[in-house]
This record gives sequence, C-alpha cells and structure tokens, in this order.
Amino acid sequence: MAETVLAAVRTAPGTTELCEFAMPDVPDDGALLKMEVAGICGTDVKMYAHPVIEAPVIMGHENVGTIVRAGRAFVERQGLGEGDRVFVEHYVACYQCEWCRLGEYRHCEATDWRTNPNARRYGYTSCEHPYHLWGGFAQYLYLPWNCVIHKVPDVVTQEEAGIITPLSNGVEWALNDAGVGFMSTVLIQGPGQQGLSQVVACRQAGAALIVVTGTGRDATRLELAKRLGADRTVNVDEEDALNAALELTGGKGVDVVLDCTAAAGTAPVLLGIEALKRRAGTLLVQGELAKFPDFPLKLLTEKAITIKSARGHSFRAVELAIELLASKRFPLHLLSTHEYGLEDVDTAIRAVGGEVDESVVHVSLLPWRA
Ligand SMILES: [Zn+2]
Ligand SMILES: [Zn+2]
Repeated sequence: MAETVLAAVRTAPGTTELCEFAMPDVPDDGALLKMEVAGICGTDVKMYAHPVIEAPVIMGHENVGTIVRAGRAFVERQGLGEGDRVFVEHYVACYQCEWCRLGEYRHCEATDWRTNPNARRYGYTSCEHPYHLWGGFAQYLYLPWNCVIHKVPDVVTQEEAGIITPLSNGVEWALNDAGVGFMSTVLIQGPGQQGLSQVVACRQAGAALIVVTGTGRDATRLELAKRLGADRTVNVDEEDALNAALELTGGKGVDVVLDCTAAAGTAPVLLGIEALKRRAGTLLVQGELAKFPDFPLKLLTEKAITIKSARGHSFRAVELAIELLASKRFPLHLLSTHEYGLEDVDTAIRAVGGEVDESVVHVSLLPWRA
C-alpha cells in the first residue's frame, strides 16, 4: 500500500487544494476504507460556498468503499472487516444516547457539528483532527470503532452505490416521515436527485398518484421522473401546479406534499398547504428559510396539516435503500449523470450547483479515477 493518501481539501470558501497525508496507523479498534465513490448533494454546494467551520475539511459525506485494513476490535464490534464493501453513514455515533440505541444516529448530539465542536461527521469534520481522513473526497477514509456502516452487495453497481444517500432519504422522508403507502396521492416539488428518489420510494410503497413539479429548466429531469414512476409532471413555468393537483384528485387535494426544491423561497410551502387535502394531510419541509413572513398558520391549523422536517435518514432506511438498489426494480442508474476524479472536486461541486450544465441530476466523485 502507498505511504501517502491524496485528498481534496477545502482550504477556504469555494477553494479546493489537493493535499497528501501520511497513511494513518490504524489502531486495534479502527479500520481503513479504500474509497470507491462519494456522492455529492445540495448540502455540499452550500457548505463549499459558505463553510460553517474555518478549519480545512476533506468534504464528501456519502461514501462507499472497501475495507482494506481493520483492527481486531473493529471487526469484533462491527462484524465487518477486510474485503467488505460498505456504505458509510456520515454520522459517527456515540452508541450511548437514546438515539443511537434506536439506530437514529442523525439525532445524536455527538455527531452534530452545530452543537459539538468535537463532533465527528464525515465531510464536515476538519482534517486537522487525528487520523485526518474524515471525508470521502480522498483515496482513503479512516473508520473509527463507532462509525456506522452497511454492507453493499456486489450486484449494486458503482453508479448505483453513489445514490444510496438520496434514496435512503427518499425512504425516510416519504415513507417513515410522511407515511406514504398504499393508494396515497403525493405531490413532489422539485425533480432533482432528492425529488426523483422520493418518486421511487413512493412508487415502491404503493402510491396511487405521484405528481412531480419542476421549472422549464427541468425538462430532462421531469422526463426522468416519468421513467421512474411519476404519473404526471408539471412545468410550473407553463402550468398552475395547484390546479393540476386538484384536478388529478377530483378536487380533493393530495395526501402528502414533499418539498424537494432548492432555494425556491416560501412558494413551495404555500403551494403545499393549498394542494393538501381538506383534513390531515402531511407536508414535508426542508426548512432552508430562517424566517417565514406571513406564514398561513390559520389555514394550516384549519386543515389539520402535519409538518414534518426532512433530516437525513435512519439505519433502517439505508438498509431498505440498498435492498431496493440491489433489486434492480427501477432504472436508478439513470440518476447518475456526471462523474469526476479527485482533481475536479471543485467542478464536481459546482456541477451539482447547476454551474456546469443543465442536464445534471446526480454527481459522483470517483477518487481513483485518473
Ligand atoms: Zn448529502
Ligand atoms: Zn448517540
């Protein structure tokens, strides 16, 4: 094995530098992952332009690779070791709190960089911390005893492996949070990688109607939505999405609205509240806005709407997403539109942000690609 590890380090806002790190000494309770693919999402775009911490960070929080070195205690604890291909959740758990006991690592305080300066979270933790390799935009990733890993079968291709995270979110948000199931009617706003993953989760769960909205720029993504199981797509530049949702449900409105838009302001939430059925619908929000002036709280209460917050995924949701990918039931590889090597991390992140071309859906970083 090489003596050094090449990594793309975010050294300042919107700036990446390739750096070499010494190959870490793996302790008895640790392991080393040879990276295969790191998925990139909208959060990376935000964290790249406006980092929350100033210290240098190897980004990349949606990581799949093969364990190439593992200590005895690591194998004992994880039941996985050298030669195993795994998906690594970005949460590094404490395994002591109530959330970790439930497999809900996303809520563990120990993983939250907002409240805990010593938190370990892949793609967010500074490479100045011991072992340095805390992000997937690198040839290797360090795995401590308390990492959260899932076995990925070989039948899942590299392309498919790159979208485990958005699909896990699809399962978590549509099914677990919003309760989409048999004969549900669903409005999904935004046909990006996240919206399209929701389409697949809703289809698999048995939804009767899936409507996906997008803008004039989303033509290819809306086409893809149909191939993945959407019943109807709406270009909001040409058609009134509320009218469409009401018409398709015989005037009743939909059971569930999933907001998967980016930087669309208050409009998707306002539309969602209007498009939901008269009583007891569910609205899933991403909460990008710090404030919401003139929020229609009265209407929300009158319609008995439940708001759910999109917050990552549970352990179980990841397991189900990997099973769904392995089943090959949906052409999910179509989501994977762009791939870049380590030298092009900057371009790759900008591509997710829509700066490179309009056909982008999902972007993967392949750290070993020449
Ligand atoms: Zn992500
Ligand atoms: Zn915990």
